[in-house]
Amino acid sequence: MNQPFVILVVDDHAANRFALKALLGAESACEVVEAASGEEALLQTIQRDIHLILLDVQMPGMDGFETARHLQMTERTRNIPIIFATAVFKAEEFIQRGYAIGAVDYLTKPIDEQLLLNRIRLYRRLHRRQCDLEAMVALLRQQEKALVQAKEAAEAANFAKSTFLATMSHELRTPLNAILGFSELMRRDPDATARQRESLSIIHKSGNHLLSLINDVLDMSRIEAGRSTIENAPFDLGVLVRDLVDLLGARARERGLQLLLDQSSAFPRYIVGDAAKLRQVLLNLLSNAVKYTDRGGVALRLGVRHNQGNSLLIEVQDTGIGIALEDQTQVFDAFVRVGDPVKTEGAGLGLAIARQFVTMMGGELTLISTPGQGSTFRVELPLVLAPADSVPAPVPARGAVVGLEPGQPEMRVLVVEDQLENQILLTRLLEAAGFAIRLARNGVEGVELFESWQPHFIWMDRRMPVMNGTEATRRIRALPGGRDVKIAAVTASTFREQHAALIASGVDTIVRKPYRPDEIYDTMTQLCGVRFKREAPLAEAPVSGVSAEILTPDDLRALSETTRLALHAAVLGLDSCQLLKAVEPLRAEQPQLAERIQTLADRLEFQTLWEWLESAQDTRKK
Ligand code: ADP
Repeated sequence: MNQPFVILVVDDHAANRFALKALLGAESACEVVEAASGEEALLQTIQRDIHLILLDVQMPGMDGFETARHLQMTERTRNIPIIFATAVFKAEEFIQRGYAIGAVDYLTKPIDEQLLLNRIRLYRRLHRRQCDLEAMVALLRQQEKALVQAKEAAEAANFAKSTFLATMSHELRTPLNAILGFSELMRRDPDATARQRESLSIIHKSGNHLLSLINDVLDMSRIEAGRSTIENAPFDLGVLVRDLVDLLGARARERGLQLLLDQSSAFPRYIVGDAAKLRQVLLNLLSNAVKYTDRGGVALRLGVRHNQGNSLLIEVQDTGIGIALEDQTQVFDAFVRVGDPVKTEGAGLGLAIARQFVTMMGGELTLISTPGQGSTFRVELPLVLAPADSVPAPVPARGAVVGLEPGQPEMRVLVVEDQLENQILLTRLLEAAGFAIRLARNGVEGVELFESWQPHFIWMDRRMPVMNGTEATRRIRALPGGRDVKIAAVTASTFREQHAALIASGVDTIVRKPYRPDEIYDTMTQLCGVRFKREAPLAEAPVSGVSAEILTPDDLRALSETTRLALHAAVLGLDSCQLLKAVEPLRAEQPQLAERIQTLADRLEFQTLWEWLESAQDTRKK
């Protein structure tokens, strides 16, 4: 689509126009139009596209300079190149004036034809280039627009997906609340037989597994929607590690594996960070290491790297199936699972979440692996130390609630909940504590019961038919006495916006489903200062039928001096690898004792071990 290069010849002499038209018209792809005066020239530029103007200077009426000035004034004509042609105004000052007005050339008559033709060709080429550029810019603009549209469509789709996943996980969470809550309650029932307890434990465990899968999906959708944020606070890293080692140590032992903890003495105990996210990262890595290892063991190595700004180094190493080189990048993608499909189980989200969390925390998660030999996942995080007194003390393990401590006023508790399972679960928990309870099945009933019964505390479900919890709370707060009642919302929703709406409606706090029984009781203690009576804590299931915690002076006497000294050295160095080596000679003769020491070592109970070993001195003195 080559459009002609249009030249406008402006001259009051018809003979000049004729000569120029003849000369230029012979040029390929050029079209010549004429104007006999400045006014006519301006008219022509309005009527059609002109690409070059050959302009006589001396003309009756509007002369060439005047015409050029007018052309400069409008956007449409400002950039048309002008070549002045004159037989009269040859002095330097006119030439300068011509250029000042915007001419690109100033030729004098008689015009050198070859020179003129060369100039015309040059401008034609420039014009063509400019047209090409403009076409390209237009194309790029179009592509950019298409890309923006595609990006917006993808973002909308991603947002829809994340919302769908979050909604689904909410729907799944609600029935799961009943499954986890009831199995927990029934496990505590003294009338349950051992077989029933075992079955209930399986239900509970499977429910928890399901919950962790749902949480993974939710985490991933939150990350993808950009809704996941890091919340830094001081915390006890030592306790976090110990809990993980406890949890995974038991799992490893069930699979006949060893879980080793190798902690450098520089590894800090109190740091500032996002404890929940770090816990999840390590849990995912350790669970994988145990899951994908059949023989040998898993080591958790904890250290510090001193560089510009210290960093925390955490390695999870296993002697498992390993990951092929070509799969090593992919495993960090969401929903990607590699290797033998029979051997692997899971949703393929663990590593994707771990890497995203580590990146969000400003760190790096890397992998080294050899198929058949094992894998090492390494987390490196910026380290910020926290003073020990900034970390809240851990909550001790507690027994089940069996009632209220005496001497407290009677308390009326209203449960506003539409779902039968959740009604029963919450009611049972509250009955166990001995509260007076009434039940409302929706917000309207809730408001009515509040007015007629005047409860001290309300458990308010968020989503209900007829009237939801947010609206019911708002109405209750507006009624006489409505400001004094404590209202705790219960919700399976994980949307922050919905939480914000609940708080705005006037609830005092929010408890998320599925909740643990203690969350219900603790909330009531926090809001009303209620004190509960509890039974003695349930003992942890002993390992291999022996009580792990108890090491007696007799046990100590049974040790050879060499073993005792080796243990002493290992405990002093807080070195669980060395400790395991020291225990090794005991395994043949006293397997139970060896097992108990190892359990304490696995749990990082160095203090207990130290006290036990130190008691040797007392025994000998006696
Ligand atoms: P999954 O839930 O399937 O375990 P992950 O994202 O945690 O999902 O892991 C992705 C895949 O990476 C797994 O399916 C497994 O094939 C591989 N993988 C992860 N950790 C290990 C490991 N320690 N050893 C061998 N393979 C592993």
